[in-house]
Amino acid sequence: MSFGECPICCDEYTSPSMLEFFPCKCGYQPCMFCIKQMKQCPHCKELYQEANFRTIPNKFYSMSESERKQQRIVNKQNLIIRGLSDDILDEQILRQYNFLGQYGTIVDMQISNRQCYVKFDTENQALDCALAMNFSYFDSKLLTLTFGYQKFCTSFICGHKCHSKSCQFIHEATPLTKMFHVEDEYRQLTEATKIVCPREKENYHLQKEQTQQFPPKIQIQNQLQKLKKWNAENDFIQLLEIVNTGLKD
Ligand SMILES: [Zn+2]
Ligand SMILES: [Zn+2]
Ligand SMILES: [Zn+2]
Repeated sequence: MSFGECPICCDEYTSPSMLEFFPCKCGYQPCMFCIKQMKQCPHCKELYQEANFRTIPNKFYSMSESERKQQRIVNKQNLIIRGLSDDILDEQILRQYNFLGQYGTIVDMQISNRQCYVKFDTENQALDCALAMNFSYFDSKLLTLTFGYQKFCTSFICGHKCHSKSCQFIHEATPLTKMFHVEDEYRQLTEATKIVCPREKENYHLQKEQTQQFPPKIQIQNQLQKLKKWNAENDFIQLLEIVNTGLKD
């Protein structure tokens, strides 16, 4: 089974235990050998202190292959857009600058079941799109968005290296990966893929007359920066809180 490698010395990990060890609050994980050589985290520059060392068990490695196949994880580069009117439910139109093109580089798009599945080049581009469009109106129809989700690559699940360069599935499972069982979709998926919007977003609710284009990116920079940072760090912080509470008990 492949467990990845140290980001500094590129030594390959031979067991999942290194993936469960976190020497720093930022979540950056060099190998034990490298940690011992360094006084501070090379990623966030915090001094290494044993009081901050955490071991967080990785659920993925204790699952059977069939359980792994049932797991899904949220992919924040992907969005699912619902509520598009027939006039614009068309890939060529939606790719235009007036519509989804304004938020970033579109890597992939599919339309099925009256929904648009779009993949942006980066998570930030997808978030710009999601924050601007979620709960806005087009052709008097309410648009709602959620993040997309993916399964693990079958080769990866069985412990083999995946040789397909174009494989779109997930090839790593860190303890921070939030997995949910495919049958829990309705409950967990809504929770895991929902998009949190800043309060100022409420302005866009009133744009019912808007018919030429989708709303522009939200310009509230401070708010948005905070939110983007929150999105990136939230999973790890939440997990740390759970682990810390566990330690106190
Ligand atoms: Zn190393
Ligand atoms: Zn760090
Ligand atoms: Zn693969």
